[in-house]
Amino acid sequence: MHEYSIVTALIEECEKFAQQNNANKVTRVSIKLGILSGVEPSLLKTAFETFKLEGICAEATLEMNIQPLVICCLSCNKESIHDQRNIVCIHCQSTDTKVLDGEDMMLMQLELEQV
Ligand SMILES: [Zn+2]
Repeated sequence: MHEYSIVTALIEECEKFAQQNNANKVTRVSIKLGILSGVEPSLLKTAFETFKLEGICAEATLEMNIQPLVICCLSCNKESIHDQRNIVCIHCQSTDTKVLDGEDMMLMQLELEQV
């Protein structure tokens, strides 16, 4: 499943970051989840709860910040924000737009602890 491989990669990233900072416990994982990332938040949460038990993130809570879609209009140069898949400029109704944000998933912040 898509979400499982994402979580595996996410936890690996957390482990690497914790090692670099001499921490052996991650207490909070904060991610940004674009609405166009194709990731289902509830599935991601479940996958995280399942996989974290094996490692350094065992007691970590996952915080998901849903990132709406931000597009920039190439006709009128204004930005629009959509909370669903929609690439039409809200200012001039043009579809000649460029996606600025909301497409990806990103690790934003980690809270570490040294035990
Ligand atoms: Zn426009």
